[in-house]
Amino acid sequence: MIDLHTHSSRSDGTDTPAELVATAAAAGITTLGLTDHDTASGWAEAAEAARAHSIRLVRGVEMSATYLSHSVHILAYLLDADHEAFARHTASLRQARTDRLAAMIEAMAAENIITADEVAAHTPEGATPGRPHIADALVARGTYAHRDEAFAGVLSSSSPYYRPYVAPELEQVISTIHDCGGVAIWAHPMARSRWVPTEAEIRDGIALGLDGLEVDHRDNADRDLLGTLVRDSDLIRTGSSDYHGTGKVNRLGEFTTEPDQLEEICQRGVLEVIGG
Ligand code: AMP
Ligand code: FE
Ligand code: FE
Ligand code: ZN
Repeated sequence: MIDLHTHSSRSDGTDTPAELVATAAAAGITTLGLTDHDTASGWAEAAEAARAHSIRLVRGVEMSATYLSHSVHILAYLLDADHEAFARHTASLRQARTDRLAAMIEAMAAENIITADEVAAHTPEGATPGRPHIADALVARGTYAHRDEAFAGVLSSSSPYYRPYVAPELEQVISTIHDCGGVAIWAHPMARSRWVPTEAEIRDGIALGLDGLEVDHRDNADRDLLGTLVRDSDLIRTGSSDYHGTGKVNRLGEFTTEPDQLEEICQRGVLEVIGG
């Protein structure tokens, strides 16, 4: 069972990288992709755990990008995270995310909804900061029972406390990934909870140089259409859970990737899969 899109506590998942690998091995995953938001900081710990549990690890990152003025996520696989182009991307994203989160917290603090200290207490050291960390602080305060409720409430994109953050353009993110020797797969391209592009908009995005689409993901509105686009453009097709530990309902292995598609990713990526 191949699951190529998961999050640890280095971004907004609730399992540490080692816990995530152990949980995946116990769930029968044979090849796991670790794809924290805009950071590769969990790779080393996950690699060590993968060797201990005899599970294969695909090192990846879910990179934030802007396409047609909307926020999109691009999965980067098997890229050289020591490349300076990658360092530039993550440094600028971390700054943008930190500033944006501080602005959201300030607006909420002014109305006694949450304080910066409470959010800091729920942001693991070094984690890529995001709204899920505010959500956890709100759950701890008793305002909501679960992250989902916080996202439906004060954290929703239509809330008066919401602030966007600016990520680099899709074309630039794809070049960064390729400059770093990685493989660029558009994550949940038609996620219902996000902006849903039209077929033409997806085709134009593909033309910017994407290697593939994450067709099989619970949030995609039209997997048949995405499957057709993959066939038409001869792209890599992936399927994954987007597991976030207890932070989301997504279960490990709920969607999976076919071995021949993983093989294509391995052919194109500059890094090896840990564990063969
Ligand atoms: P941000 O990156 O700060 O804009 O927050 C978006 C992140 O929150 C995404 O990466 C999702 O993984 C996570 N997220 C979005 N909606 C939910 C939800 N309903 N429950 C839990 N996590 C969510
Ligand atoms: Fe996330
Ligand atoms: Fe995502
Ligand atoms: Zn994700």
